[in-house]
Amino acid sequence: MSTVSTAQPQLLSQINERSVLRILQSSGPCSRADVTRQLGVTAPTVSKAVATLLRSGLLEEFDAPCNGRGRPARQLRLASETAQVLGLVIDAGHCRIVLASLDGTLMDDCEITFNTPDAYPDLIETASGHIESLLRSGVQTLGLGVSLPGLIDSNAQIGLLSPNVPVTNGHSPSRDLSSRLGLPSVLLQECHALCLAERQYGNARRLDDFAMLDATTGVGLGVLTAGRLLTGKNGLAGEIGHLPVKPNGRLCGCGRRGCLETLASDSALARLVSDRLGREIDIEEIVTLVRMGDLAIGRELGQVTKHLAFALATSINLFNPSTLFVCSRMFDLDDSLLDRLREQTEGLALKPSFESCRIERARGSKREGTIAGIIEHLTHSRVQLDMPVSHGIQ
Ligand SMILES: [Zn+2]
Repeated sequence: MSTVSTAQPQLLSQINERSVLRILQSSGPCSRADVTRQLGVTAPTVSKAVATLLRSGLLEEFDAPCNGRGRPARQLRLASETAQVLGLVIDAGHCRIVLASLDGTLMDDCEITFNTPDAYPDLIETASGHIESLLRSGVQTLGLGVSLPGLIDSNAQIGLLSPNVPVTNGHSPSRDLSSRLGLPSVLLQECHALCLAERQYGNARRLDDFAMLDATTGVGLGVLTAGRLLTGKNGLAGEIGHLPVKPNGRLCGCGRRGCLETLASDSALARLVSDRLGREIDIEEIVTLVRMGDLAIGRELGQVTKHLAFALATSINLFNPSTLFVCSRMFDLDDSLLDRLREQTEGLALKPSFESCRIERARGSKREGTIAGIIEHLTHSRVQLDMPVSHGIQ
């Protein structure tokens, strides 16, 4: 029992630190007195938690304007000038590195894009070189979030099978970059990253039950239920893209044929259009040409939408989300696409499940997901209990 009695004070301190962070995340900057009032604990308890968080670099203090009367009031906020976090999106074709403050504000002029190298050591070498160029003197870099498509063992932090970025199979880019750069890091499955992005930056801010269907490069699903990401035993849940849909269909990156993601993604549309035009064309160029009126893709878009509706109906039937967000550039091709997709999904999904679910376009991005992921990792890791924490404890 001595283990419990010695562990408890440390655990209670961590819970209080997490609670202080939550208040500042949800309410924005506030004074120690405000935090004490909202937490409902004693001032010394808050002071102790704040002191630890200031030492760790997660919080900073600043003088708020005081309308010309009295001394400026000292306020607390998530570190925005004294600390930064980094995100790395690893994807087919290209990778992106982004920089943000701990309150999630992205510094767009610091974004770096590079082609995804063909060899894993080159990926780590190139990414770490770019990341080092973003480290700033006088600003503490607190951590790095890395997103990857495919099957990620979230416990072991290893990419197991990434049909679209196979160069990462069997590797842990987060751990390798962490040891090279001396930074805490976390590896996120990209659909999980998109869920976190939608909750921090998009339209899922107050939602605890929603799903995210990513239909960009491949097709993947992230599900947040009761406020927690559905991961399965070791993080492999949600790989809807490799449902076998078309016997003897197109070869998929996973090695099988006719998987859903070969039929229902931005990449699937690009392949269909490329086949017709007799040249390689990607989704960005398709969007540009269609919007200029120089390319008609109605037939191909109809085919892909039909399969995308199947993916939506399957997600709604299986997981009963309050909102299903869909991430795709195809919405930029046709302003009526979302309505058509809703209609087609209604024809495939179970009626009660469909009627209790809204279908919306996702607003969060993968780059935002890496930042939301590392912020969640840095703030959540202060509490080791697997339970929601809403109140401070003294
Ligand atoms: Zn597949």
